[in-house]
Parts: sequence; C-alpha cells; structure tokens
Amino acid sequence: MAEAFTATPYLHGNCEPCPACALRREVADSAPILRAEVPCNVCAGRGYLPLSDAEIVARTCEEARRLFWPARVAAWGRQA
Ligand SMILES: [Zn+2]
Repeated sequence: MAEAFTATPYLHGNCEPCPACALRREVADSAPILRAEVPCNVCAGRGYLPLSDAEIVARTCEEARRLFWPARVAAWGRQA
C-alpha cells in the first residue's frame, strides 16, 4: 500500500510547531536543550504539524513577495 505523501518536517517552512506540545513543555520543563519527550495526541509526540502542499507554496510565495521582489525592483531602479 502506497504511503500518502507528507511534507518532510526537516525543511524550514514545511511545518509549524505544535501548540499543544509547546503548552505541555511549558509545564514539563524550562531547559532550552535536551527536552524530555512529552506525550501528545495532537501531533503524536513529533512536535510539529505538517502543512499541506498548498500552504507550503502559499507561504513560500508570500516570503518571495516580501523579500525577493522589493530587492529586485530596487536593483532594476539602480540600473536605469
Ligand atoms: Zn503535539
């Protein structure tokens, strides 16, 4: 049986942090490194919630509009 495609959680921008895990970590510990695993039935303990392909593309385009195009337009203005 083919496994359904889900975006890899290891690329920046493909997932959001799990808010349920964040709340549990606030209570469990405050150490910045080597956190204990927290049981979570929202994300199955992974700590992230995968975004849909459409949401990944939408966010990437939004970042490109925010960062890339203003810089390009400014560069074109300098060339003229
Ligand atoms: Zn979680």
